[in-house]
Amino acid sequence: MKKVNKVRVRFAPSPTGYLHVGNVRTALFNFLFAKNRDGKFILRIEDTDLERSKREFEDALIKDLEWLGIKWDEGFIVGGDFGPYRQTERLDIYKKYAEKLINEGKAYYCFCSKEELEKEREKQKRMGKIPKYSGKCRNIPIDEALNRIKNGEKAVVRLKVPKNHKIIFEDAVFGHQEIDSSQVDDRVLLRSDGTPTYNFACVVDDYEMKITHILRGEQHLSNTPLQALIYEMIGIKPPVFAHLSTINGPDGKKLSKRHGATSILEFREKGYLPEAMVNYLSLLGWSPPDEKEIMTLNEIISKFSLERVSKSPAIFDIKKLNWVNREHMKMIDKKRLVQLSIPYFKNFDIFNEVDEKIEKFVELILDGFLNHIDYLSQIVYESQMIFKFNLENLNVDEEVKKILGKEESKVVISCFYDKIKDIEYLDFESYKNAVLGCMKELGIKGKNLFHPIRVGITALSSGPEIEKLIEIIEYGRKCNLNVEILPVKERVRRVLERL
Ligand code: GLU
Repeated sequence: MKKVNKVRVRFAPSPTGYLHVGNVRTALFNFLFAKNRDGKFILRIEDTDLERSKREFEDALIKDLEWLGIKWDEGFIVGGDFGPYRQTERLDIYKKYAEKLINEGKAYYCFCSKEELEKEREKQKRMGKIPKYSGKCRNIPIDEALNRIKNGEKAVVRLKVPKNHKIIFEDAVFGHQEIDSSQVDDRVLLRSDGTPTYNFACVVDDYEMKITHILRGEQHLSNTPLQALIYEMIGIKPPVFAHLSTINGPDGKKLSKRHGATSILEFREKGYLPEAMVNYLSLLGWSPPDEKEIMTLNEIISKFSLERVSKSPAIFDIKKLNWVNREHMKMIDKKRLVQLSIPYFKNFDIFNEVDEKIEKFVELILDGFLNHIDYLSQIVYESQMIFKFNLENLNVDEEVKKILGKEESKVVISCFYDKIKDIEYLDFESYKNAVLGCMKELGIKGKNLFHPIRVGITALSSGPEIEKLIEIIEYGRKCNLNVEILPVKERVRRVLERL
């Protein structure tokens, strides 16, 4: 027997869809708990729903976990001492446990057909009862059952739930739970094709894999009495259960598509940073002891504990996620931010090939516009004033119209143009000189000077600092782009022409 006394937790996704916020939060909490306790985090693939499980979803979930930096120590792909880690490869193990239960009279073969069961259910429903298996096959002697199977009859294995029995378990988050066994059906453990049902496979695997704590979504709290009973009937001790509260949208309803993006893939494609995602997800149902909410992964790991996991529903608030993401965008290495932004510019065909100059160009754009975006895919849209010079704004934008409505604005733009019109590439020095020159000549300063200049350069009334804009525009002109960037002086000339 291998000696296992450290925390061992698992994430056990069913590859029947893309990972969403809820299951990633489960994966993350398991990971954080394991790392905090110097334990092991295991990945198990629960693919016994043969119809709905797809390899494509397995690949996607692996990618999502890798992207988030949620690494597993043991399990699917990486292997370990307690494998295989894919349930469809463990069928003989479930069979062994099912047979043990049958031999001990704690489970039985059931030959009822689907049609029969359906009829039974319908009848119970008509009578206003909660549908429950009648127990018809409970008392078929084992020899007779085995003979019928030998003769080709199909049978499932059902748990023989004891009557008048209290099922008791403790949940580290939801507390003491007590359920009468009358509330639990004689559930199927093994289907007739030999595949296990979720509750049975889960118990067998968690036991076989020496799992010490089960952290999973609150939706599984209702499965836990049955699982606790299976543990009891096999004669083994259950791990510690800790259910994680539901995640709701800001309207208090269960988080769903209606609330916007919910799959991790969508967030990744939008350009949220993985560390921000992890940081935000960690706050869904857990809170750090010191209330410092912006944290690195290592900080979260060091602070994480089950004691601070709450049973009240967590609220998924996109505004807060955006704030967390903005904070992390400010914190991370500039070069990495550049690399992460490049694909979005490529998507808009701003450039194909990337060289050092283009990297620097993207860095300048990020420097100018980072404060204006919540996540990276917004960068191209937010910085479009660099690539598109839309003179139509002059007639449409109310603020712009107000600025241009002032008599002195035209004088300022005209004076500014005179000072820069012969400069091929406007740099910070020459811009400053031009502005100072206008200030002296016209005796105009402050916003009466800078607002018209901004309109002259961008045809807009707001945006990043003018100095930064000029630097981005003039630098961009020197880069090998697929789009033409109009020089600052040409922009100002065109605005002037319209006045
Ligand atoms: N395969 C189950 C799910 O994806 C796992 C539940 C559990 O952790 O026990 O919901």
